[in-house]
Formats: sequence, C-alpha cells, structure tokens
Amino acid sequence: MAELNDIIADELADLEQSGLLRSLRTLDSPQSPHVVSDGEELLNFSSNDYLGLANHPALVEAGQKALAEFGAGAGASRLICGGQKPHQELESALAEFKGTEAALTFATGYAAAVGTVCSVVGKGDVVILDKLVHACIVDAAKLSGATIRVFPHNDLGGLEKRLKWADEKHPQARKLVITESVFSMDGDLAPLLNIVELKEQYGAWLMVDEAHATGLFGEGRSGLIQEFGVGDRVEIQMATLGKALGASGGAICGSRKLIDLLINQARPFIYSTAPPPCSAAATTAAISLVRSQEGETRRQRLWAMTENLKTTLLESGHAPGIVRSPILPLILGDEAKTMAMAGQLQEAAILVPGIRYPTVARGQARLRFTITADHNLDDLAKLQSALSSISNGSEEPQDA
Ligand SMILES: *Cc1c(COP(=O)(O)O)cnc(C)c1O
Repeated sequence: MAELNDIIADELADLEQSGLLRSLRTLDSPQSPHVVSDGEELLNFSSNDYLGLANHPALVEAGQKALAEFGAGAGASRLICGGQKPHQELESALAEFKGTEAALTFATGYAAAVGTVCSVVGKGDVVILDKLVHACIVDAAKLSGATIRVFPHNDLGGLEKRLKWADEKHPQARKLVITESVFSMDGDLAPLLNIVELKEQYGAWLMVDEAHATGLFGEGRSGLIQEFGVGDRVEIQMATLGKALGASGGAICGSRKLIDLLINQARPFIYSTAPPPCSAAATTAAISLVRSQEGETRRQRLWAMTENLKTTLLESGHAPGIVRSPILPLILGDEAKTMAMAGQLQEAAILVPGIRYPTVARGQARLRFTITADHNLDDLAKLQSALSSISNGSEEPQDA
C-alpha cells in the first residue's frame, strides 16, 4: 500500500493544478479594516465583522472581566457542569433580542446547525433546502438521515413543487424547509414572507439561518425575520455570533420546548465542552451594543459604506451582484482568473478573498468583497486605484 503522505501529495498537486489549493494566512493584528500579516499592512475587504465589533472596547472589556471572574475554560460540557453565569446571561439576552421564548448557544454556528437539524428530523422525514445554503446546513441535513430535496435558489415555484411532492409521497413525514436570510456568498436576501406562507400552506416547518443578517436588519437589528415581521411564524431561528456580533459561537432561538429538546438531543451541544465564558460575556456585550443607539449608528454607517463600495466597483468597471447587504460578490467565473485577480489585489496590499469550488459551484468563482461600518472613503479610494491599475495592467494574469 502506498504511503499516506504520497497519496496526499498527489491530491494536493491535483488541487493546485486546478487552482483550488488553499492555504492559511496569519494575522498579527485584531480584525479591522486594516490588518497586519507578515509585517505588511493590508486593507481588509474580507471579514464578516460588519459592524466593527470584533475589537470593540465594550466587547474586549466584558470578555476580560469574565476571564478574570470565571477563568479561561468552561471545564466540561454544559450538561456535565460546564455552564456558567455568562452562558445563561447570553441565552437570556439572545431570546430577548430575537423575541423568542428561549435560546441555546453552541460553540459554533456549524455545531448549531448539525445539532438542531439532527434533533428535529431523521430517517423517513424530508428536508427541503435552498440550493445555496451554507455547507453546515447541507452536512446537517445529510447527517440527519432525512430525505433531502433541493430547490433552485430563491425559487418559490421550485420550493412549492418540492413541498407538494413531500406532501403526496410522504404524508406522515416531518417536513423541514431550511434557508438563509442573507446568503453568505451572494449577499442576496430570501423572500421570507413568501417562504413562510408556502411552508404554512403545506404544513412544513421552517428554519432560517440568520448568520449574515443578525445585527443588520429589522427595527431592533435582530435580523431579516424581524424586518419581515414573521418571528412568530418561523419555528427555528439560527444565528451566528462571530459575524456582525463580533465574537464567536452559534445560537438557536425558538420555543422553550424546542430548546429543551436540543438540550436533550443535540449531540454537538451534549458532547462538547462549553465555549469559554469570556466569549459568552463578550457576545452579551455585543448584543447590548447592537440594540443601543450606537448599534443603529453603526448600521447606518455600514449601509452608507456599502453604497460607496458599490459605486467604487461600478466606477472601476466591475458590476457587483445587485444586493442589499454588505456582501458584494464580483463573479468572474473562472477559478484561476479569480485567484489571479485576488493575488494582484494582494500585491497592492488589499485583501479580498477569491471564493471558489467547493464553497461555490464550479465556474462560479468570485471575489467576495465585504465592507464594515469602520471602513472609510480613503479605503475605497485605495481600492479604486488598485482596481484601475489592475485592469490597465498586462493581459497576462500573474500567478496567485
Ligand atoms: C459562517 C456561517 C455559518 C457557520 O457559523 P460559524 O459560527 O462560523 O461556525 C453558518 N451559516 C452561514 C450562512 C454562515 O455564513
């Protein structure tokens, strides 16, 4: 039998050849519009820290205080006795923020998705997914053992067709529809009200992943569900705590009964050490901040900068997708071309991730620009000049 490392070397060479090899970058600075990597300052259009909270003094202070009071680690899973006051306070704050009876936090959004979907549906049930849902939802659905049906992205007719199919073929099955509210790689929004009406018509349940909407939409900035006013009609609300909330973790918000079920059934919750209490405390501080006037001010700055970024891209001869979110994808299609352009931008000290298969479909590679409330017009002027010198430069793309 060949050595494991030889087989791996072949696989890595194949990935490299198809422009799909990835590697890690290390930052020597906190997240912000300007980060330092390898001693070089980079202008950052890659983070999901939309409101600029990841390094906000209010979060840092709350984390430090909890670190001093509760220590570095939770010591065990929540059920074994790893749950501390900051975990409980965060869940109360989340339930109030989202307007639900209860909430449960997980170490990551990925774990929240897997634990929840597998607790609610299983073999013999049906899960209906939007084509573009996040990998953690796809993995969760597969692991649940339920029958999976996928509808074309944001296509209500396609969703209805699959709901009808499930109703006819599996009348006794539980049916769970899952969508994101703001799609992570495309930045577009789901038609939540229509989806809610359809799932009600067919007696299905709905889970909405608000990873990229929490903190940004709705009167109280809790998410797109709030903006659509459908909070009491969505059975399972998922949030992640590491994007606009600037900290880390995942959460499920819903009825007390749902949360009690998850405490008893969600394996990534039961069999995993509780997140550090300082992280929970920092997230609670983030929720207070988002709900305050400063949260509204930051959101308004974010939308203003989003519009400015759109203008910058258009004026540089690039048409981003038409979206109403801080995620602006520039779809180039070809993987190698996309990575070459990301490489050219990096040579100009600008960090924009090239997103390619398997994160998006083959031939759908893109530069994914994200903007935050803390970016300014100088940052965009730098981006614009880099983009114009790239398009005026040689036709031969440099290797990334
Ligand atoms: C980031 C993300 C997740 C996973 O959340 P983590 O806390 O990073 O594990 C889930 N869903 C979507 C749409 C995401 O973008």
